[in-house]
Amino acid sequence: MTDKPDLMNIDYARKPLQRENMKKIAEGGFCPFCPEHMKKHHTPPIVKTGAHWYVTPNMYPYDNTAHHFLIVTNEHIADSKELTSEAWAELQEHMNWIMEEHEIEGGTLLMRSGDMTKTGSTVLHLHAQFIVGSDPDKAVITRVG
Ligand SMILES: [Zn+2]
Repeated sequence: MTDKPDLMNIDYARKPLQRENMKKIAEGGFCPFCPEHMKKHHTPPIVKTGAHWYVTPNMYPYDNTAHHFLIVTNEHIADSKELTSEAWAELQEHMNWIMEEHEIEGGTLLMRSGDMTKTGSTVLHLHAQFIVGSDPDKAVITRVG
């Protein structure tokens, strides 16, 4: 576990740069996905912002992906039970927007919610991931644990 197990779990980092950056963030003691902190470490642009979520390319995309977006709640929450019906509807709108913008014909939406030791999530702040595979011969596998 990390020095800030309440915010991140570095043990679940998949890439060396991700692990290195997460250690720096842990030293700073801030939540990496809260909007006011995101630009301190995340170099891809915020491509869309709504009332409940913002959208940005994942800085550490899964292997064999053509697109890997993060759709992150504006508010610091950890559990999807805290989402309103309006927030769920906006998540759908963001997914539709991504698919239209990039002419995507199929993708995977996933969201880890709650206790990171049960989900394999690296950051506690609630976020969805929209993933599109790049190789039709390889399924996009999500890593848990
Ligand atoms: Zn946060």
